[in-house]
Amino acid sequence: MMAAPAFAQTTLYEGARLIPGDGKPAIERSAFLVENGTITRVGRQGDVKAPAGAARVDLTGKTVMPALIDIHTHTGFQKGATYRPENYSRETIVDDLNRALYFGVSTVVSEGIDPGEVAFRIRDDQAAGTLGGARLFTAGRGMGAPNAGPGADTYRGIAYDVTTEEEARRDVREVTARKVDFIKIWVDDRNGRAPELSPPLYRAIIDEAHRHGVRVNAHVFYLADAKGLVAAGIDGFTHMARDKEMDDEVVQAIVKRGVVVMPTLQSTERGRNTGMPPPLAAWLNGPAREAIPPEIIARVQAAYGGRTAAQAAAARERYAILQRSLAKLSAAGARIVLGGDTGLQDDPFGFAEHRELELMVDAGMTPMQAIVAATSRGAEYLRLRKTGTLAAGKSADFLVLDANPLDDIVNTRRIARIFVSGAEVDRNSLRAGLNATK
Ligand SMILES: [Zn+2]
Repeated sequence: MMAAPAFAQTTLYEGARLIPGDGKPAIERSAFLVENGTITRVGRQGDVKAPAGAARVDLTGKTVMPALIDIHTHTGFQKGATYRPENYSRETIVDDLNRALYFGVSTVVSEGIDPGEVAFRIRDDQAAGTLGGARLFTAGRGMGAPNAGPGADTYRGIAYDVTTEEEARRDVREVTARKVDFIKIWVDDRNGRAPELSPPLYRAIIDEAHRHGVRVNAHVFYLADAKGLVAAGIDGFTHMARDKEMDDEVVQAIVKRGVVVMPTLQSTERGRNTGMPPPLAAWLNGPAREAIPPEIIARVQAAYGGRTAAQAAAARERYAILQRSLAKLSAAGARIVLGGDTGLQDDPFGFAEHRELELMVDAGMTPMQAIVAATSRGAEYLRLRKTGTLAAGKSADFLVLDANPLDDIVNTRRIARIFVSGAEVDRNSLRAGLNATK
């Protein structure tokens, strides 16, 4: 008697609504064939046949879409209820990556506060197939003017302090030699705390990075800096301008030069609230509890409160600047990607991404546009040719949802199953690991 194969190499998934992720319309009652982890055919149910011996999975009533890609995260600082530099380790980064994957995020980019070797080792181990979780990309240690780099004390001393063009070019060569996926710079005076990275310095960084084939993402606050950075050839913005609405001049320049924009709305929107919106609270205190510890949930919820109605009203006006800028960028066809500033103290993995999608739609993007930003656009920016869309030749990296996110974007949270390279992610074991006492 022959042993049964451990798993079927070929599987036909039938009956789901399929959102391809590239902006093309959904296929109702789809069928798609996955062979050895790769999608080989996509079509309507009945048109795509299962070869002899193939397994069949009935997904009637479900929606499938590509797994999410978050281009603006910071891994490794959260441990239990604490958030501090001593926590930064392989263990805490892996926790963040597992939590991201649990909530349907297959890929994350850590933007510039990764000290030492740990993130690079994790990246190597994932490439070798010996470590799971969301796939990590890293900018290693980013660069800013002294005392004008990453915002919180937690990150003190991690970024390079750059004061001369020679130093800037040397630091860039140092990080490109370590094969960072991006270079992160901060161009901000941190509310007057310190002089910001000057145009000659950021021009030197961008020029040297491009000589080495590495792209540069900028944290920006002021519209004037955003304009200077676009003119200097910046590749991506981890934030929009926050002092003023982005005007037509900068929007057109961003579109023309193909600059990638991470709206990063979700951490800023807190200020306009006097409490957490009830539907969000229901999710956070319900399904999110499966993989986010209660002490973090309590803190996220608290961050939505603690202010007067007048303070919230003032913040709502400041936040409306971001909403209008995003609507303009989207209408003009800018390359928008998902970025949650995920992994900051009150922005846990899983929560930040799904909230960000909701806020992108709230600001005027369609659910389809938000999904494109969170899938194919992110893959394109990471030069991942095998993921980000559901089409023949792509890796079978997809979410199975219980409800349609094109009807209501918050349905991206209603995850039934997750597949990466055609293999189902074991969410129960991820959940158990994340809930274990550490
Ligand atoms: Zn950030």
